Amino acid sequence: MLNKLLAQQVQKYFGDPEKLSAEADAFVNAVSGSYDHLDEKIKLLESSVAEYADKLNRLNEKLLNETEELKDAHNELSRIFNQVNEGFFTRDILTQKYIGMSVGCEKIYGYSIESFFENSGLWYEVIHPDDRKIIDADNLILTKGVQIKTSYRIIRKDNTTRWIEVKAIPVIADGKLVRVDGVVNDITEQKEAELKIIDSERGYRSLFEQNLAGIYQTTISGKMLTCNQAFAHMLGYASPQELMHTNMVDLYYTKKDRDDFIAALKDHKKLYNYEIILKQKNGNPLHIIENISLFTDLMTGEEICEGIMLDITERKKGEVLLKQSEERYRQILETAQEGIWMIDDNNDTTFINKKMCEIIGYSPAEIMGKKIQLFMDADANKTAKEQVERRKRGISETYDAKFITKGGRVIDASISVNPVFDDTGIYKGALSMVTDITKRKLNEELLQKSEAILDLKNKELQRKNKELEEFAYVASHDLQEPVRTINSFVLLLNRQYAGRIDEKADKYLHFIVDSSNRMKTLINDLLDYSRIGGKHEMERVACNKILRDVIADLYKAINDSSAEIILDDLPVIKGYPTELKQLFQNLVINAIKFRKENVSPQIKVSVERAGNYWHFTVADNGIGIASLHLERIFVIFQRLHTHSEYPGSGIGLSHCKKIVELHHGKIWVESVQGEGSTFHFTILEYDHI
Ligand code: ADP
Repeated sequence: MLNKLLAQQVQKYFGDPEKLSAEADAFVNAVSGSYDHLDEKIKLLESSVAEYADKLNRLNEKLLNETEELKDAHNELSRIFNQVNEGFFTRDILTQKYIGMSVGCEKIYGYSIESFFENSGLWYEVIHPDDRKIIDADNLILTKGVQIKTSYRIIRKDNTTRWIEVKAIPVIADGKLVRVDGVVNDITEQKEAELKIIDSERGYRSLFEQNLAGIYQTTISGKMLTCNQAFAHMLGYASPQELMHTNMVDLYYTKKDRDDFIAALKDHKKLYNYEIILKQKNGNPLHIIENISLFTDLMTGEEICEGIMLDITERKKGEVLLKQSEERYRQILETAQEGIWMIDDNNDTTFINKKMCEIIGYSPAEIMGKKIQLFMDADANKTAKEQVERRKRGISETYDAKFITKGGRVIDASISVNPVFDDTGIYKGALSMVTDITKRKLNEELLQKSEAILDLKNKELQRKNKELEEFAYVASHDLQEPVRTINSFVLLLNRQYAGRIDEKADKYLHFIVDSSNRMKTLINDLLDYSRIGGKHEMERVACNKILRDVIADLYKAINDSSAEIILDDLPVIKGYPTELKQLFQNLVINAIKFRKENVSPQIKVSVERAGNYWHFTVADNGIGIASLHLERIFVIFQRLHTHSEYPGSGIGLSHCKKIVELHHGKIWVESVQGEGSTFHFTILEYDHI
């Protein structure tokens, strides 16, 4: 074909081929032969080109497919990239601008990506002011080409504070930091959880360190792992460090104690309120109570004992003392001569002593746990509820009640009952002291009867006394008249016939005058006696004033005898003034009258308080009284001396007795013959009744 094409071309350029020379013809033939050969080659080439084109087409198709897939993958990756909570960024250090930033950053910071692109300093502005120094330090590290991982707080656009973690990778070129690639994570929740853990760890640590209870951890073989200050102190060590070299085994008082403890712990894994005695550094016993648990260390697989303990040494000592004192009290209660009955808040018996059992004839076993009112009469049963209420209100009281003995006998008892409350003020029962007053009651009844009889007799006596007083008054009053008549006639007789009859008659006349004078005095004294307390009202009497009056009245006698009278500071009392004056006067007169020969009388009037009474004494240095007569002298007209020895009628002290009794007091005398006498009398102080 190429041959024909060539012939045509030659003809076109060189005219009729007939005209071509044979050389040319031969040349053309040669060339066209070569062309035929070339044609074949071209055909070959064409087919291989077609083959390659086909291959290329297929390759292209494959490439197109792969590109599509890559596109999809890229899209997927971008989607994921923007969906993850992490933020990615690339920042050019030289231009201080972001090259790239993922949507994650937007979520984390709350600012749009554009904001970061527009404001290259925004990333720094959002950092919490307190945490900026962290970043400043980190940036320095980055310039040295070292990758950093840091966490700090940021303040988001909505003003909330969040914790973020930034992993920054420096890109260095020519030894200079040119770019930073980084990943940002919001770790607020994680950080808060961490902070919580730190807080709780801190809390537990301070609980451990500051606990008043001793806390420790040891291996099962006793190697001390940790302990707190309280533990060290309890055992007498200065600090936990000092104990770190100690094996727990050595802190037990005996090896057996430790072995028993380990055996119990292995059995139960946990021990509660385990009491044991440990040994302090100085060898003293330390009584403790502890809770211990045994667990396996997850890291080492070792068995660990963990204990928390309290020092109960003092409590134990207290318990011993308490037990001893309880024992003592129990003995006292048991041997008490009064019945003791204790009940709980439900009226059930919790304790009863020996004496109480004796009183009602039951054994303790028959009474314990039973209600007290079961052993009492019907009245007690009726008031039992009310009694409990009164005790609950804290009322203590003493009342009479009746118990019934096992044999059915009624026992009159006086019950003194006190409520018992616990430390928190809750009513816990009552304690009763029971006295068997059956006999006393009987005696009381008898006493009442005899009192009634006595009262009757008293009234009778009073009546008779009054009659006697009236009689004495009437007698002395009526006797006065005839005595006065006798007296005047005797005087007349004496005046007219004295010295006219004979000596004997004169003597008799003198006796008659003397006797009638004495009779007159006696009758007057008797009249005075019957009048004591008859007319006056009680009033306040200043005893000092009374005595001053007495001294003034007795001036002559005092002066003649050179008597010295010493007065205490005497009180103002309530009484009958005239009678009281007479009382003091009689006693002072007697003290002067019954003085020792050639000895000046010394009289001392004193007073002291004796309960509701004033106790007066009038002491002298006179002749004294024989002990035989100490009582007799207070009886009317009783004298120890003749009239010629010491004048008087023997009624003075009876007056005194009557006056003292009028003031509800008593009078008596103490005396040593030849040395002096002390008259005592008491006067009731009315203001104190
Ligand atoms: P009188 O003084 O009139 O004899 P009293 O009744 O006053 O009667 O006393 C009775 C007796 O008690 C007296 O006679 C005297 O023996 C004795 N007596 C009284 N006071 C004293 C006194 N101070 N010292 C010694 N004897 C006394």
